[in-house]
Amino acid sequence: MAASTPVFFEDITIASENPLIANILLFAAVAGRAEIRGPNSFFLQKGSVARFTVFGNTVGFTRLLVRTARGEIVGSLLVSVKDKLTKTFTLNILRDASHRTTDDAVDAQQAKALAIMQSVRDLYLAQANISLFQIGPPNKPKVDGYLGDTIFLDDVGTMIKIATAVQAANIPGADLHIFYTWDVEDRFIAPQGALGVTLLGSCFVDELPPGPTATFTFAHELGHALFLDHNPNPSSIMFKAFSPFLKRFNALEITILNTTGSS
Ligand SMILES: [Zn+2]
Repeated sequence: MAASTPVFFEDITIASENPLIANILLFAAVAGRAEIRGPNSFFLQKGSVARFTVFGNTVGFTRLLVRTARGEIVGSLLVSVKDKLTKTFTLNILRDASHRTTDDAVDAQQAKALAIMQSVRDLYLAQANISLFQIGPPNKPKVDGYLGDTIFLDDVGTMIKIATAVQAANIPGADLHIFYTWDVEDRFIAPQGALGVTLLGSCFVDELPPGPTATFTFAHELGHALFLDHNPNPSSIMFKAFSPFLKRFNALEITILNTTGSS
């Protein structure tokens, strides 16, 4: 965790209440004057700005306390340190009679999906301390016949075709299954159109090129598969519409990600 703290009132010191759980590292002035006052104690002059990193040592809670020169506590930041959780996933490139018909076409999509998942794994690890672990190489379930240029998951015939292909492909068990598909829709779940649709632990995501939109869409759908609902705040990853802004999971979502679902 890193934070910048503007100070408006007077000189302060910052210290971790329980350095055994987490302490401050790499404290440095961005503007003005900041200095180390002792073990785990940092001074910041009025009007200065500092940047610091908090390092977690063991599982638990502590607070970073902001004190005035008189020892009065004028601010605090709760710090939670938790174990890393692992969630397993499989990556699956769908084929049908008219889409991804050559091995080269499947390989090209596979390379994109792997690149996107790398950024999604970084995001989950950084924001929720969740390690996403891929089970086996990408699978290539092949549908008999046509799924259409748009795959409608609310269509029973389509779902039977996909389920049959999945069964034939012998996809190993995992917490999450990701299907990178040319265009997926569900007229009940997302009547306005969607870049991704999640049904239980299976995420179907349009074949977006690697980039912020793809990372956000994958992270959002995986959030659904890990029991997160939509969030009305546009800065959340779980906001229902796409927006190009940097997005985060909030504290409640991180808690839910860490306490629900198989692991
Ligand atoms: Zn959603």
